[in-house]
Amino acid sequence: MEGMMMQQALLISDILKYAAEAHGDSEIISARTEGDIHRQTYIETAARTAQLAHALEGLGVKLGDRVATLAWNGYRHFELYYGISGIGAICHTLNPRLSAEQLIYIVNHAEDKVFFTDTTFVPVLEAVKDHLPKDMTYVVMTDRAHMPDNTLNALCYEELLEGQPDSIDWPQFDENTASGLCYTSGTTGHPKGALYSHRSTVLHALYAALVLGNGYKPGDKILPVVPQFHVNAWGLPYSAPLMGTSLVMPGAALDGPSLFKLMDDEKVLSAWGVPTVWLGLSNEIKAQGRKPENFAEVVIGGSAAPRSMIEGFEKQGVDVIHAWGMTEMSPLGTHGKMPPWVKNQNFEEQINKKSLQGRRVFGVDLKITDEDGNKLPHDGEAAGELFVRGNAVISSYYNNAEASKTAFDAEGWFGTGDVASIDAQGFLNIQDRAKDLVKSGGEWISSIDLENTAMAHAAVANCAVIAIAHPKWDERPVLVAVAAGDEKPSLEEMHTHMSEHFAKWQLPDDILWVDELPMTATGKVSKLNLRKQFADYQLPDLRS
Ligand code: ADP
Repeated sequence: MEGMMMQQALLISDILKYAAEAHGDSEIISARTEGDIHRQTYIETAARTAQLAHALEGLGVKLGDRVATLAWNGYRHFELYYGISGIGAICHTLNPRLSAEQLIYIVNHAEDKVFFTDTTFVPVLEAVKDHLPKDMTYVVMTDRAHMPDNTLNALCYEELLEGQPDSIDWPQFDENTASGLCYTSGTTGHPKGALYSHRSTVLHALYAALVLGNGYKPGDKILPVVPQFHVNAWGLPYSAPLMGTSLVMPGAALDGPSLFKLMDDEKVLSAWGVPTVWLGLSNEIKAQGRKPENFAEVVIGGSAAPRSMIEGFEKQGVDVIHAWGMTEMSPLGTHGKMPPWVKNQNFEEQINKKSLQGRRVFGVDLKITDEDGNKLPHDGEAAGELFVRGNAVISSYYNNAEASKTAFDAEGWFGTGDVASIDAQGFLNIQDRAKDLVKSGGEWISSIDLENTAMAHAAVANCAVIAIAHPKWDERPVLVAVAAGDEKPSLEEMHTHMSEHFAKWQLPDDILWVDELPMTATGKVSKLNLRKQFADYQLPDLRS
């Protein structure tokens, strides 16, 4: 017997409509490329988004068309999320940190029709425009007074909106209609597209609103440092309006002092981002001898949050929520919201638990398997490749049959490429990306574990462990580190520091000091480039 309930399509436009009606005076506060702080409520945002939708239709944008954005976090980018998807087109966010070659590949692969850009990236587009689709319409996201001279024949965002009706009956269509497109940053080869749907986006927003953060109230301010071009800022532009929270958008200035000031001025409660950005903020907190007023929570994901970073924030009274996910998962997979029994443990044990990647989100199933695909127990010991499935996980890559062929197992689960264990309480422990594990003498060494321990040394500002080929052991770990100051501890000193946590054979064979580590477009250490950088490096015991 079927239930007798109505069924309404889950559409992104309903999120903004809801926010304007139920949380109308919560705000989007943006540090603009124009240089000032701009504020508008959800009511105003809904009206401007309606204007944008009419303008897009005027430009000939239709259901299923791809519309590209190249922009920082800000209210206009937020309006584009809703305006583009609201009329059934696809909001394709592009990462400005990609190489010109990758940008050209992605735009042509996606066949974008209209291109919205911040003033900052006009020169980037001018440099590649001859390699992009010829009939592209460009729009610069600013007003007439700030329009840069350009060779893109670009339209002006504010002029486009002017005079358009500020209300709209959002079109209704199937909830499985595509809404957003985001390419992986290519740490694992050619960028691959994850094509989100209205249904997956709305469900993901609901899941995320339940677990990310320790309970927000309408009007609380959340600051996504994670860019809107990186998996939709982890879905926050969709979950924040549902929760009625205000968003503080940092624009282009993501350095420690700028973030500190914005968070302090706006009394930001919670900030979200990858570990790299928190290094800058942590230094500024140290320099000022205090945290930004009201700053109570930080959500860290995208790569493993170093234990020393978690400890540092917690000692300042900032609650760390460690999360794990992927572009292919919209991105949320697990979250570190702690149950009461952890909160009752001593500080050390709490930090231990927070260093894990947390427990699964409702709507995401996890399994770990051995090399033959057999399921492994969730006992905290057995480690294997992590597979996921759920309503906000991709079922295929966008127009990429080749990559899609190998991404799923026989039961249709998506292979994350991460190696992990899961304990009896459901806590996920990401040990490494499969390709970053160091295989020595038939045993695996986790590069994340070594990095975590090395980072706890006061002289190490940042580091990464890579595997170097060895004729006898197969591979050996080498630590590449950036010094915090003038002190550069010897390998012996590092061994002493690390030996409490590792067997002798697991310790790095060498330590190489560098001025900086290569980063990926999403702010993670690029082990691919690091391996290239040290391709000719010889291990100490192999030097003649
Ligand atoms: P890309 O695959 O292009 O680098 P993603 O942002 O989708 O972009 O990266 C997802 C990967 O990042 C995961 O598979 C995992 O290896 C890593 N990752 C994300 N969050 C964490 C975390 N909290 N701890 C460890 N690794 C993480």
